[in-house]
Amino acid sequence: MSLIVQKFGGTSVGSIERIRNVAARAVQAQKAGNQVVVTVSAMAGETNRLVGLVEALTPDYNRREYDVVVSAGEQIAIGLLAIAIEAMGHKARSYLGWQVRFLTDSVHSKARIEEIENARILQDLAEGYIIIVAGFQGVTPSGDITTLGRGGSDTSAVALAAALKADFCDIYTDVDGVYTTDPRIEPKARKIARICYEEMLEMASLGAKVLQTRSVELAKKYSVPVRVLSSLEEGTGTLLTVEDPIMEKVLVSAIAHNTSEAKITVLGVPDSPGVAAAILGILSGANINVDMIIQNVSAGHETDMTFTVSKGDFKQTLDMLTDAMPSLGAKGVVGDPHIAKVSAIGVGMRSHSGVAQKMFQALADERINIQMISTSEIKISVVINEKYTELAVRTLHSVFDLDKERGDTIGG
Ligand code: ADP
Ligand code: ASP
Ligand code: MG
Repeated sequence: MSLIVQKFGGTSVGSIERIRNVAARAVQAQKAGNQVVVTVSAMAGETNRLVGLVEALTPDYNRREYDVVVSAGEQIAIGLLAIAIEAMGHKARSYLGWQVRFLTDSVHSKARIEEIENARILQDLAEGYIIIVAGFQGVTPSGDITTLGRGGSDTSAVALAAALKADFCDIYTDVDGVYTTDPRIEPKARKIARICYEEMLEMASLGAKVLQTRSVELAKKYSVPVRVLSSLEEGTGTLLTVEDPIMEKVLVSAIAHNTSEAKITVLGVPDSPGVAAAILGILSGANINVDMIIQNVSAGHETDMTFTVSKGDFKQTLDMLTDAMPSLGAKGVVGDPHIAKVSAIGVGMRSHSGVAQKMFQALADERINIQMISTSEIKISVVINEKYTELAVRTLHSVFDLDKERGDTIGG
């Protein structure tokens, strides 16, 4: 008997009709002889609504209480799904994160799962129940509710699949797989039949929100066979797998974009050892993650340092660094929240040269100015003005021939 973890996102449980559809899929999987564990997200729009309620009270809210509020959407979704399955004559039982015990650290609003106590799930499965677990939430060892960051129910599902040693982790969403770029921006985007964990990890961390980054990290670490599928139509979806030699033949596999970051520059700091560490130390002390970092070559005895943080952390970062100007010896702190990061990703870059030149030329031909650049072995990212995001994505998708049929890794 196989064990399958199914995850359904907000759109997939966005109405009573869709919840019935999800119930039918879970029942069908059980009838086919599998043990079934389902993770669901809140109904479409619900988490945004809850975040809005918190933000309407104050911009400086307590993150512990934020988690209490925004985790509530999933509670409704799991209960409704359990009722829908029972109404079809099957056994179902729903659980919140603290009941199953998704133990996390205590970094509220972006907690990391540390352990899952699955004894209760295993016992219920043995008794023939379909188990429904709230995504996106956990609990600290001392009993405080946490959430896993936006999009976190993907991570709940993969972590559960790893803990239960599931045969498959099926992520059902509103597209029928992972595409060469966001199909809502480029209609010529094509579905990728198989993608390796490394590329998917880069895509997710560079903004392809179809899977939360942490879920791909866990899938890679525990070799969880993840499939991305449509909850609305039948299909083979996209399989996450280990890299194979055919994948290296493709130069660029996907284009990703991210408009959720903001840029901050600390001006005129002394060009001496320890200054970069002092700036980043202030941020890490407040659990603010920094993404791209550039330090200019110094002209004289001082330099500028530019980096990106998430838009949600923009104001706090600006305020903290402005307060710290005297101790850093900085001349100023400026920021720009209207930026986009556009990236080309492909394991083929390891063995091919010229990708950066081709990318920069294509952007120059469209008169798009590049503000920052960062590269790794398998990706190149540029920061540009946010208003050119769609143009840049489409231009790069076309220049790297992603509109066209090719190879074994792409298609289907
Ligand atoms: P869910 O609510 O099911 O978790 P999400 O909205 O989080 O769904 O993720 C699915 C969305 O991800 C799609 O609707 C699509 O717009 C977006 N997306 C961005 N990049 C990609 C990509 N490369 N392939 C597929 N979908 C993508
Ligand atoms: N409901 C949560 C969110 O909107 C979790 C998720 O969708 O994965 O971020
Ligand atoms: Mg999602």
